[in-house]
Amino acid sequence: MSQSESHNHFSRRSFLNLAIAASATAACGTILSESLLARRLDEPYPKGAIVIDSNENPLGPSQSARDAIAAVIPQGGRYSDYLTTELIETFAAIEGLPKNHISVFPGSSEPLHYAVLAFTSPAKSYVTADPGYEAGMHAAGVAGAKVVKVPLTGSYSHDVRAMLAKAPDAGLFYVCTPNNPTGTLTPHSDIEYLVEDKPQGSVVMVDEAYIHYADGATPAIDLVKAGKDVIVLRTFSKIYGMAGLRCGFAIAKPELQQKIRNFQGFNPMPITAVVAATASLKDSALVPERKRANAATRERVFDWLHSNGYSFVPSQSNCFLLQTNRDGKQVIDAMQQQNVFVGRIWPIMPTYVRITVGTQIEMEQFQTAFARVMKGAVVGKVAGPQKTSRNDVPGLHPSGFRFA
Ligand code: PLP
Repeated sequence: MSQSESHNHFSRRSFLNLAIAASATAACGTILSESLLARRLDEPYPKGAIVIDSNENPLGPSQSARDAIAAVIPQGGRYSDYLTTELIETFAAIEGLPKNHISVFPGSSEPLHYAVLAFTSPAKSYVTADPGYEAGMHAAGVAGAKVVKVPLTGSYSHDVRAMLAKAPDAGLFYVCTPNNPTGTLTPHSDIEYLVEDKPQGSVVMVDEAYIHYADGATPAIDLVKAGKDVIVLRTFSKIYGMAGLRCGFAIAKPELQQKIRNFQGFNPMPITAVVAATASLKDSALVPERKRANAATRERVFDWLHSNGYSFVPSQSNCFLLQTNRDGKQVIDAMQQQNVFVGRIWPIMPTYVRITVGTQIEMEQFQTAFARVMKGAVVGKVAGPQKTSRNDVPGLHPSGFRFA
């Protein structure tokens, strides 16, 4: 592509992005303009970049998952039905769940969106934490539902009592534990309280995308087993390193499953994702090993931050919020000048930036870059030919919105 073609191509995309933004903003009110979403997806990262901005797993899929993918390739001409059955059976056996309480999706974003569409409406609010994971707010905007954002407590758990008090018309309560972006847990007893006291007809959706990283977290699957109006989301995108392969579960009783699946057309799973997920579940060393490695790296970063006088929200996850004591966007931009891509900010905590825990080597490079930025060696935005910072663009992508 010539330079002018490339420019036109970029302009057309930008125009398309703006058109998508305009229609979504109309649907979602101020939600999206308030949020600084993810980076642009139509540009590659520069060579050698340290990418710790999207809560991905730098290790990628396990060896057992890779082997399973390679072995299944010849079957790529067939749909995934019986392979999906095996995945469900495997997870059901591990969790002691009936098989009809588990649905498989390409990631957890899909059931998250469908559940919000199913249980919220102009008369039934969507209730979430602030700061919290924003994807459901976008879906609530599409459903025409009011979004009720409730600040976290002083210990960064969901303030379930305030969530109940602020939304007597709630359709769906979204609880993310460990929370994205804080990496903090909401006690199981608080989730139980929410489930017991919620308005009739509403549901509680517990997003456990990061639960494998946390110490002392009690999953909410027992509430599903007890027949409560609870949907638990799980994903293979985080500890299992399969964000690009796409696999996740909605765990709920069949009546709720049906309402979620009403939004899904014929959309069989990619066989590669299904066999990789099954192999990962059968690999009993995988979660404990990766959890240990993530915690060790995270704690070393925390020690370094602490001994250098920086503060942060103590996290149980693969990400944490770091206090910069200045406009977090400037820090993000200055870090990018050093080829270190850190995550985003939440408007309610504008001086904090979210950092994903990468490998030990990546985190050492992060530390070097962060110290330079904080000492003022690198400031402000990049001048010259570079395009707009990824973090200035509100998560736009030709195919819609992207959060991580
Ligand atoms: N839930 C939370 C809390 C997340 O942070 C993410 C992605 O970052 C998702 C859900 C969606 O992930 P996926 O669709 O890859 O499962």
